[in-house]
Amino acid sequence: MANANLDHTGRPIETLAFLIGHKETEEVVVCGELLFPSQTGDCSKVDDEGTHGLPSEWWIMRESSTAKQHGTDNTVLAAWIHTHVRGVKCGFSSVDVHTQYAYSHDAMYPNIMGHVVELCQDGSIIEDFFTLTAEGKAQVSRYVYYISI
Ligand SMILES: [Zn+2]
Repeated sequence: MANANLDHTGRPIETLAFLIGHKETEEVVVCGELLFPSQTGDCSKVDDEGTHGLPSEWWIMRESSTAKQHGTDNTVLAAWIHTHVRGVKCGFSSVDVHTQYAYSHDAMYPNIMGHVVELCQDGSIIEDFFTLTAEGKAQVSRYVYYISI
């Protein structure tokens, strides 16, 4: 993802991918598969549109090479990865915090990481992995409850 996706006008747009691994032991996950789902995006967001007609999480757990080789029970969605472009710094936006919450709130991906790759205008990249603390999850949970009532 070092080169930015471009929209029809040549401006960079965000790109999404999923890092898939398998449990080597209870503490060790080995990642060997990268999935670029169908997606729509612009300079400030990117949305997963599924993979081969299935929700990407379903495809990962049922159809990925990792699932076929190691079984669904040993397949791990280790990270969701997306780029930041046009000067958006490497870090979680408020949308990213809620996306991370949604993934990590799912019992299947409690340890998923959010990997942000900032594609700088000089061609360099800045990247980091993020998760939510227990306090962060609690704060998002209160917000989600607030907007749902
Ligand atoms: Zn973001």
